Amino acid sequence: MTQAAAGKSACCLLAVLMAAAGLAGARDQAVAAEPIEIFDAHLHYNWEPRPFYQLDEVLALFKKHRVTGILATSRPNTGTHALMDVKSEGLQVVPFIRPYRVRADIGTWFNDPVIFDLVQDEFKRGYYRGIGEFHLSGKAAENEWVKKTVDFAVTNDLYLHAHADDEAVEILMRHNPRARIIWAHTGFGLPTDRVAAMLSKYPALWGELSYRGGIVDGAGKLTPEWRSLFERYPRRFLLGSDTWIPERWAAYGEIMAGYRAWLDQLSPEIAAQIANGNARALFAANR
Ligand SMILES: [Zn+2]
Repeated sequence: MTQAAAGKSACCLLAVLMAAAGLAGARDQAVAAEPIEIFDAHLHYNWEPRPFYQLDEVLALFKKHRVTGILATSRPNTGTHALMDVKSEGLQVVPFIRPYRVRADIGTWFNDPVIFDLVQDEFKRGYYRGIGEFHLSGKAAENEWVKKTVDFAVTNDLYLHAHADDEAVEILMRHNPRARIIWAHTGFGLPTDRVAAMLSKYPALWGELSYRGGIVDGAGKLTPEWRSLFERYPRRFLLGSDTWIPERWAAYGEIMAGYRAWLDQLSPEIAAQIANGNARALFAANR
């Protein structure tokens, strides 16, 4: 090897070493920046008659995707009982009473005294923090059994988790102005100015964002309307998986990655509030 060639290879070696050191540095940073914790505020662990994932699988899934809290519901409520009994470290389980025994109850619960009995019986377990998710559309919310359910929730310091249009949410609030409502899907495609009007009119209304359209554009960029809604109401939004069918469980990681992709575009403070802080604040005190 000539002296010049030796000098050149020493220089190359140095460059390789420096690049390797740079890579190691980047790797350390990646390890340090763990993905943001998510509280999944719309989870169904349905048990009809067996769950899609066994308990250990579902707990592993939460760990893998850094989900550290869940608003747990199940049809029937057996799945929620199982999640409550397991007491997994690092996972806050917040149980809600599902007013359904079978899928068909979705369309009739609001006019069915047997369901109101179910809610009251289930409540006796002593650990519930809410009732839902239940489905309501427009004037169906006027029903006397719905009013009884809202009053029961208020009396017993329970949240309601309502999959409802804005008209039904307004009726629920009219039934009892002290109701506290987690609005599943935040109106789906309802215009953001209407969502803002609802949040401003009802201070005890929180928007849960599964299946909510319009948050990002086709390129995955947060839309200006949603950025301004999050900045104006940072304490009023929650995230959820809505694992209502096996496909949602299969896509659980993608759903969480989808949330993190737009949370990353917000300030770290607002991102943390929406990802977990708001749910933690709502469910802070144990009953
Ligand atoms: Zn749901």
